[in-house]
Amino acid sequence: MKDIKEKDAKYIAGTYARFPIAIKYGKGSVLYDENGKSYIDMGSGIAVSIFGLQDDVWKEAVIEQMNKYQHTSNLYYTEPCVKLAELLCEKTGMKKVFFSNSGAEANECAIKVIRKYQEDKKSGKYNIITLKNSFHGRTLATLAATAQDEFHKNFLPLTPGFVAVEAGNLEALKKAVKDHNAAGILFETIQGEGGVNPLSYEYVKGIEKIAHENDMVIAVDEVQTGNGRTGELYSYMGYGITPDIVTTAKGIGGGLPIGITMMGEKTEGVLTKGTHGSTFGGNPIAAAGAYSILTRINQGLLEGIKQKSEYIFEILQGKKGIKSVTGKGLMIGIETERKADNIVNDCIEKGVLVLKAKNKIRLLPALNIGRTELIKAMDIIIECVAIEDKEENN
Ligand SMILES: *Cc1c(COP(=O)(O)O)cnc(C)c1O
Repeated sequence: MKDIKEKDAKYIAGTYARFPIAIKYGKGSVLYDENGKSYIDMGSGIAVSIFGLQDDVWKEAVIEQMNKYQHTSNLYYTEPCVKLAELLCEKTGMKKVFFSNSGAEANECAIKVIRKYQEDKKSGKYNIITLKNSFHGRTLATLAATAQDEFHKNFLPLTPGFVAVEAGNLEALKKAVKDHNAAGILFETIQGEGGVNPLSYEYVKGIEKIAHENDMVIAVDEVQTGNGRTGELYSYMGYGITPDIVTTAKGIGGGLPIGITMMGEKTEGVLTKGTHGSTFGGNPIAAAGAYSILTRINQGLLEGIKQKSEYIFEILQGKKGIKSVTGKGLMIGIETERKADNIVNDCIEKGVLVLKAKNKIRLLPALNIGRTELIKAMDIIIECVAIEDKEENN
């Protein structure tokens, strides 16, 4: 560990504040460090390993493809991409899919589609509305879409063409759409990095109405909320809206990098030959793994997610040190009296890995986490939340 830590500091760009753990082995929702200490994983690598580590079915799908070919480039047809795209369209009603390698890239593609949709129509519109406190990625365009100052500083000037409005305020949205001649809107149904803040049903319905009245493109960022996370296949489905673009990544990759931009009826014809591309995009191994994962996000799994979610909300109710609990499905934010950093560290000490989102504790466990592990982890989390910090740690 000391060696890894020192070399990490010496050779890897210091962009991450890592916790002092190096995982050596993991199976399902249980991870082990080099000392053999075990941890229940309540973060699944930030909503990525949705069937836990080394899931047998996913591994088999990946290895099967690895034994055929690992890459051919997008100059040729590949079966894993076609199968995945077909299944995505069947399950969502979307019409076309573009594959990339990350959430940020999936959103970059969405931004290009919004701009070109309006360019094709010669509408003169290019401004994209995003919501304050959003998170859409770290590339320069997605950074501009991410309406949080802390991510912008040091990297100005921002890519132009983005306008941020207060989430939840339809009047502010109407005004911004008019003032800025809006081309489209990009939003998360539950802001993940922003603090697990769900948008209300009325607000999301209102977005759809305003967008339709102004021929705007509706793009929903399901990078974190998607792929069963909230108890719906995609979170927008719970709001009864029909987006023109849906982006996703994280969970559908199961651990391999993949970004997906789905286009609906309104936008399916926008990306034409030569207008977008990616060398690694649609990598056959990642696609074969993602196909396997998508086939398993079925009604039974979604039911299980809802039940586990109810259990978590119930057990947290009225517990010492908890101010509020937000989120949906297995995407949960816990606002605590104690400083979140201290809780995270105490949880690590006691063998549970949890995440943070702003000042909250965030839970994003594997969707198939076992009951026993979930119960044990929740007991420890509740215990750590209830500890009273000494003044100097506050
Ligand atoms: C994580 C995340 C992204 C960025 O995904 P990367 O794969 O890190 O580029 C974008 N949008 C949302 C909502 C996310 O949670």
